[in-house]
Amino acid sequence: MSHLTTITQRPSRHAAALHGKIVLPEHGAYEVSRRAWNLAVDQRPAAIVFPETTQDVVSAVLFAAQHGQRIAPQGTGHNADPLGGLEDTILLKTERMREIAIDPVGRTARVQAGAVWLDVVEAAASYGLAALAGSSPDVGVIGYTLGGGVSFLGRRYGLASNHVRAIELVTAEGQHLRVDAEHQPDMFWALRGGGGSFGVVTAIELELFPVTRAYAGHLWYPIERGDEVLHTWRELTARRDLPDELTTVGRFLNLPPVPEIPEAIRGQSFVIVEAYHVGDPTHADDMLAPLRRLGPINDTMAEVPMPALSHLHMDPPQPVPGAGDGMMLAELPPEAVNRFVETAGEQAAFPLLSVELRHLEGELGRRRVDSGALASIDAAYALYAVGMAPVPELELAARTQITALKQAMVPWKAPHMYLNFAETPTDPASLWTADAYDRLRRIKASTDPDDRIRSNHPVPSA
Ligand SMILES: Cc1cc2nc3c(=O)[nH]c(=O)nc-3n(C[C@H](O)[C@H](O)[C@H](O)COP(=O)(O)OP(=O)(O)OC[C@H]3O[C@@H](n4cnc5c(N)ncnc54)[C@H](O)[C@@H]3O)c2cc1C
Repeated sequence: MSHLTTITQRPSRHAAALHGKIVLPEHGAYEVSRRAWNLAVDQRPAAIVFPETTQDVVSAVLFAAQHGQRIAPQGTGHNADPLGGLEDTILLKTERMREIAIDPVGRTARVQAGAVWLDVVEAAASYGLAALAGSSPDVGVIGYTLGGGVSFLGRRYGLASNHVRAIELVTAEGQHLRVDAEHQPDMFWALRGGGGSFGVVTAIELELFPVTRAYAGHLWYPIERGDEVLHTWRELTARRDLPDELTTVGRFLNLPPVPEIPEAIRGQSFVIVEAYHVGDPTHADDMLAPLRRLGPINDTMAEVPMPALSHLHMDPPQPVPGAGDGMMLAELPPEAVNRFVETAGEQAAFPLLSVELRHLEGELGRRRVDSGALASIDAAYALYAVGMAPVPELELAARTQITALKQAMVPWKAPHMYLNFAETPTDPASLWTADAYDRLRRIKASTDPDDRIRSNHPVPSA
């Protein structure tokens, strides 16, 4: 019997409030409840709480504090790996809090803590609006936005965290607050890009944009053409006349021979260029012409409604075991493309499922005076690599390959890492500018001096 069992059996106001919403290690439901979206993560918390209301979150935070436990909010568990084992921690899974309210006139969405991006994207699209969603349909809106949020619309509109109007949270002391630019501005600043160290967010209010369609898709080539395709793609991203409306990704894909993958591409390897354009498609066609001249074996570019963007990147729509990590690149000269192709392409020592270079810059790279803790992204490209990890041997092989790739790209490393693409424990000082990091530490020290709120990328107190 766990330490918490006796406690939950004793009459206590907070324990009573969580009745039916708390799972302990000796409960049959524990094994399923403790799972993260990344099934390779082995988290074993002291208890798991599934709040249904803001009051449940308050009760969970106070219950944890009363019994010397820390509390780790989790939306989906996409970035659960760096959280660690979670001993002496209550895992607070927000998946039952998924309400979404769209204000079509004010062009905002109020989104509860457990909502995933596809929920919001579809709700917004029904009013002719778009959200700054990430590539995946089931990444959590809150975790993504607290880390910054790089969308395929990001070069045009900037970081998702810079388009947050207000945030509702429960503090480490169990206080429920609504913070915005006028109310508790320090906390509002910290939560927009500073990650999940400052409280349990219960809801967030986001700006939406009047975009209904995009011109988007992929150009596919055999993996052997990695060199010429990625050099041509690099030249496109370096064009002075490249519009912010166009975002592209250069990527190697090694698709496993599993039934979930369409038969035509199952078990094969490709180099692909993905393109996402909001605006007149002919402008994108002009930009993509040199890549088309290389003769892709498949060209899927088409005008699509906004929700289609949540599926185009082919992120898995359900939990999977994976080993992934990212790296930010300040620049990508031709030698960097050579190194990338040598290490991640056809000749890679171990074929990862996906290795991508996302072009950033545009509005993502412009600092805003009213920004949060992450004002902008000071990198031109994001590298993200992931391998399937159904068994420890494959996880180790994938991790070894990702480490080798990151090592190979060190000469072009950007000054700061981006929190959302860091899936292994990362030096927090590397995630923000020195000023922003100092301010985050001071805010952490004044709002959670005992470090009760546990985040995957924790900000230590000053
Ligand atoms: C397949 C895939 C695709 C991705 N695509 C993109 C992309 O296009 N752009 C991008 O920017 N990122 C992307 N990411 C990264 C993603 O944004 C991060 O992994 C993010 O942390 C996921 O949030 P989550 O809530 O789903 O994950 P979780 O693992 O549940 O949460 C991560 C952390 O967020 C914090 N958190 C979550 N909920 C709360 C809450 N209610 N209160 C306080 N803190 C909270 C906690 O610190 C938690 O440890 C992708 C990741 C994957 C695996």
